[in-house]
Amino acid sequence: MSRLNNRQAEAVNYISGPLLVLAGAGSGKTSVITTKIAYLIQECGLKARNIVAVTFTNKAAREMKERVGKLVKGRASHGLTVSTFHNLGLNIIRKEHKALGFKPGFSIFDDQDAKSLIKELMHRELADNDDSLDFIQHVISNWKNDMLPPETALQMARNDQEMLAARVYLHYNRTLRAYNAVDFDDLILLPVQLFRDNPDVLERWQKKIHYMLVDEYQDTNSTQYLLVKQLVGGHSRFTVVGDDDQSIYAWRGARPENLIQLNEDFPGLKLIKLEQNYRSTSRILKAANVLIDNNPHVFDKKLWSELGMGDEIRIIRCRNEDAESERVATEILTHKLKHDTHYRDYAILYRGNHQSRLLELKLQQHQVPYHITGGTSFFSRAEVKDIMAYLRLLVNPDDDNAFLRIINVPRREIGPTTLEKLGTYAGDRHVSLYQACHEFGLEQVLDARYVEKLRRFTAWMDDITRRCSTDDPIATIKEMIADSDYENWLYQNSSSEVVAEKRMGNVWFLVESIQQILDRADEDATIEDAISRLLLRDMMERQEEEDDSDKVQLLTLHASKGLEYPYVFMVGMEEDLLPHRTSIEEDNVEEERRLTYVGITRARKALTMTLAATRRQFGETIDTTPSRFIDELPQEDLTYEGWGERSTPEQQSARGNDALSLMRKSLNL
Ligand code: ATP
Ligand code: MG
Repeated sequence: MSRLNNRQAEAVNYISGPLLVLAGAGSGKTSVITTKIAYLIQECGLKARNIVAVTFTNKAAREMKERVGKLVKGRASHGLTVSTFHNLGLNIIRKEHKALGFKPGFSIFDDQDAKSLIKELMHRELADNDDSLDFIQHVISNWKNDMLPPETALQMARNDQEMLAARVYLHYNRTLRAYNAVDFDDLILLPVQLFRDNPDVLERWQKKIHYMLVDEYQDTNSTQYLLVKQLVGGHSRFTVVGDDDQSIYAWRGARPENLIQLNEDFPGLKLIKLEQNYRSTSRILKAANVLIDNNPHVFDKKLWSELGMGDEIRIIRCRNEDAESERVATEILTHKLKHDTHYRDYAILYRGNHQSRLLELKLQQHQVPYHITGGTSFFSRAEVKDIMAYLRLLVNPDDDNAFLRIINVPRREIGPTTLEKLGTYAGDRHVSLYQACHEFGLEQVLDARYVEKLRRFTAWMDDITRRCSTDDPIATIKEMIADSDYENWLYQNSSSEVVAEKRMGNVWFLVESIQQILDRADEDATIEDAISRLLLRDMMERQEEEDDSDKVQLLTLHASKGLEYPYVFMVGMEEDLLPHRTSIEEDNVEEERRLTYVGITRARKALTMTLAATRRQFGETIDTTPSRFIDELPQEDLTYEGWGERSTPEQQSARGNDALSLMRKSLNL
């Protein structure tokens, strides 16, 4: 508390009504939340288990819990809920699954699962156009986030494509139900619907939550906002903090207007603005402020810092993308030597995941240790997905996706024709594939030999499922893996023994993780709980694996939200990369500007931007155009390197429009 400035202290102390803290980057919004949790427990006598804090990522949630743990003595912080919106939703669904009509052990469909289901349903609608797959998935997700049921979507559809999307949406929801599964959007949507339709259930939750806090509020979507509104109910004891200039998830349905909505829904809302930035040097801050001034503003904010002017912002232009990555790697190495810093003090930020590959290569060449957030994570490895599918089937036999993934892994000689017939039979009977295997009618459509093969598999799974509840579940899972002969199969299907060994190691690591969750969870945790937790962690942490060792951090601008690093490199500062081409085409450059604002404000001491003069694209080398955002920065605070003679601003703005580059663009070169 002693460290807080007056405004921050006011935000922490104010508990008599709803509070919105609206402030720019690095002004201590997250710090207000952690301190306030400690204050509520220690000074106001609230029980930790009656406090719920929501953050944007699992990583942020972990950090917040840790920080509170340090501020609060003894076990007083025990039982505190700090989670993402999705985890909070999962908790609610887990506890209320009966009222929602789900069986325990329901599955969670990740993006990939959802996509393959949608593809399958489109196939049934005779729409085999994979180009529209992403569009339809996106539209369905948006409808869900706007709480639009399929029936309404059908009525409102304005053209053939929307009509198709609405029909797929209808079947998609029904199929999820049949699979006893929920998707990512359902994790928020279902609790909101439950609370809307069951005031008694809602009241129970409202009584449990005495205070609620939300970080990164500008990125909540409509359903998430509704969930908060429902949970805080009439007592309105909550604090939300946010920065409209950092809203970067509009494409996922985030609504910065929720900031205004809040004011209308809670007339007693108190607003506190923070203006001192404790993170960045004045130059970095000025660059961020000047840039974001090009966007229209909902609320006016000024940010200042006492951390000194700091170094000029470097804008380095390299010959091509190889030279760019090479330059970043050597810059880090020499800077580290000169200033005796740590690798973890450096972060390299980029717009798209694909940009990390070259950087990785160069960092490896220079033996610089690095960590990528959102790279190929543990859970996206094939062997881990296989075993997860076994586990999913174990807790939810109706999970057809899981069934299909492992019915022939390892080989059980059940071919595509058998599966197709099984699928048609199950579809006609409205039962899951697993259940269909048990039905007597199956013999009428399938040769006895194949029925026998299928039944051998389900009988085996049934036996394991039963033993999971009577015997030690972990021992049973280990037996299941041994029995299935998966290890042998893995050795036969890996490129070398070393690889196979490593992959099997991942399988055992997965089993250990379940053990750990069971050990750590409350007494009544079941194997179903452990697996559904693991599934959710899997999905969330594909974006954000834990790694605290001394490594240079590589991450996308989106993933960098809320974090800070002494030295930041922003690479690929070119038109079509940042701002991204699709955003330019869709006239949505403002969101890209906010993304750039987020990137700049991650830096504490120094910021370097790089770009490549030429870049390979679809096998051709193209001349790039420097990002318009460079031109928008305060030129007096920049130093240009590798530009030859830096052109005047007039020439700069003409640059993108000269005949040659226009021609190149129109020819897509
Ligand atoms: P962002 O918008 O990027 O999420 P934020 O507003 O949440 O930023 P914090 O991450 O809470 O800001 O704080 C930024 C930095 O300033 C942190 O390193 C934090 O420890 C420090 N800080 C916050 N308040 C103070 C203070 N009163 N005195 C000194 N340092 C502070
Ligand atoms: Mg923050």
